[in-house]
Formats: sequence, C-alpha cells, structure tokens
Amino acid sequence: MSRFLKERLQGFVSYTPGEQPRDKQYVKLNTNESPYPPAPGVLKALEEADYKDLRLYPDPTGKALKEAVAGLYDIEPEQVFLSNGSDDILNFSFMAFVEDGEEIVFPDITYSFYETIADLHAVSYRRIPLTEDFRIRVSDYTGIGANIVLPNPNAPTGIALSAEEIERIVSTNPDHLVLIDEAYVDFGGESVIPLIKKYDNLLVSQTFSKSRCFAGGRLGFAAAQKPLIDDLLKIQYGTNPYNVNRITQLAALETIREDAYYKEMADRIRKTRASVTEELRKMDFEVLPSEANFILMRHDRIGGQEIYEKLKENGVLVRHFSTERIKDHNRVTIGSDEQMEIFLEKLGQIVREA
Ligand code: PMP
Repeated sequence: MSRFLKERLQGFVSYTPGEQPRDKQYVKLNTNESPYPPAPGVLKALEEADYKDLRLYPDPTGKALKEAVAGLYDIEPEQVFLSNGSDDILNFSFMAFVEDGEEIVFPDITYSFYETIADLHAVSYRRIPLTEDFRIRVSDYTGIGANIVLPNPNAPTGIALSAEEIERIVSTNPDHLVLIDEAYVDFGGESVIPLIKKYDNLLVSQTFSKSRCFAGGRLGFAAAQKPLIDDLLKIQYGTNPYNVNRITQLAALETIREDAYYKEMADRIRKTRASVTEELRKMDFEVLPSEANFILMRHDRIGGQEIYEKLKENGVLVRHFSTERIKDHNRVTIGSDEQMEIFLEKLGQIVREA
C-alpha cells in the first residue's frame, strides 16, 4: 500500500480471481471458462478483420451489437447495455442504484464479488443465509423493501430458481432494484429477460464469458427498461466511454449469429455435467444439483483444502473457498469429456489413498 491510498480504502479487501498459473499445463477447472473454442464463424471473422482499423475508436454506442442482442431476446436495442465483462455491470449498478442509508441484500454463499464491490463503493449490504441444503429461500426475499442482487443459477452452488420464483421477488419489491445475474443461465436455468417488459425495477445481466466461450473477449450485457439502461450509460460514459473494444464488438456480433453452435456446446456441457455428477456420487461425493457449468462437491472423509491441493499436485486445478460453510467443498468447472476423465481418474486415486 502506498501512502497515497485514500484512508477509506486502506482496509479494503479486493477480489481474488481464480488462479491462472503459468508454471505448468494444468487441466484447468477453476474459473468456469468453456473448454470449447468460439464458433467457426467467429474465428473466421477475426481472421478476416482489418486490424488497421484499430487506430480508430470503437463505436461507443455499440449500435450493431445492441441490435443483435435485442433481436436474440426479442427486446428493444434501447433496453440493452453493453459492458466490458458483466462484472462492469455489477460495478456500475452498485455505484448507481443503492442510496446512502439503504442496503442491498444477497445470499451468504454467493459470488463474492458482490461483497467486494459493495465495500469498494461503501454500500451497506446484508447477507441472507442459504437454507441447510444451500438453497435460496424465496420467501426471504419477497416484499423485503431492499435492493437485491441474486445470481441465477447461484454461484458457487449452481442451484437455480425458476422464472416464476424470480418474478415473485421482483413483483413484491416494486420500489427497489432487483438485479438478476444470469452469468450461468444458459446451462439449464430460465432467463427472466422477458420480464423486463413488465417490471421497471428488474435489471438482468449476462455474460459472453461462459456459454459463449468468450471470456478473453470481455463482453457482458444487461437488459432492462430504458430508464435503468440510461442510468447505466450515464455511469459508463462517466468512467470509460469506449468500454467495448473494436475486436470484441466484431467477434461478439458473429457470436450472436452463431447462436445454434453455442446452444450445442451448452448441451454438451450439460451431458458431461450429468455423467460427472453420477461418477462422483459413486465415489461418495455429495454433489449439489447444478444448472451451471460447474458443480460444488464435498467428500465425507476428505477435507476440501486437501482435495484441492492433491488435485493441484496432480495437474488438476479446481476452486477452493475458505468461507466457513463451504470450506469442505470444491467448485469444479465442467470441462470437456477428456478433461473430466483425467479429473475423475486423479480424484479416484486421491479417494482410494485417503
Ligand atoms: N457473475 C458471476 C456469478 C460470475 O461467476 C462471474 C464470473 N466470475 C461474473 C458474473 C462475471 O463474469 P464476466 O465479468 O467475465 O462477465
């Protein structure tokens, strides 16, 4: 820390992203990336791109891309906000929408970035415990008169709420913002983007990082009624007007045109998830019912930290959290069948030797 850091930020604990080690080649199952490449049309568009255009700024409005996203979800382009990854949407929302003296609520076990970003912007928050079996209890969120952020499916549990359950939360808190983070929705959840037509307090965020195999391209988008989108634009133009670069805009446009490919890749992940879950249960792992591209698992006899370390020694990276309630769990990204075979083989050895 330098002596110039603001006093208020001196105790700020920042977010720790999943490790990206370069010391050797790992089977990397720790950051929920897709094991599959972007669609052929996306790669072709990148090969044919005129990189001389990089001297020019990108379109700050992202017009073509907004129209494409709107077309895909049957909403209006003015109901779409584009961002440099969906973490930007969370960041802007915490900056923009929670009044001083108000609070935002989210589950105790959830995406830890919510807490980080709340601390960064000095926003008050309250964590609502998940049930014993790691579920969100809908009644904890209905009619509570507070701003709410929920990932659906939740991370790192992978458990999803139905669109009808989300609607109950949105409709009973009409004077507060409900932000639904659908980073993993394409792997089995149900998007509530159609509900933005009905509710002016609903903001839905999605990302191209997971089901659209584009984590390195950094594209997120939000859907909401125009006034909320205009608020986000105000913050974005006030921080970084050219937040989505030219190459990303170009590749993302092709990504939307190749929607069928991405649906197929998500289907593959779901199939792999089902077979891996079955194999893990045979090895006496408790696996939460996931609708995401990861699973959260726990073994009766072996601690979470130990499994994480032993897998790493064997060249397999998974994500371990030190949070009390899930410290005996590990979150494992669903990779390709080949990657998961290696994971299961190494894990099998660890269990047999324990
Ligand atoms: N929401 C959740 C629940 C996530 O797990 C992630 C990925 N870490 C994000 C949002 C942000 O992803 P990105 O910024 O890559 O869009």
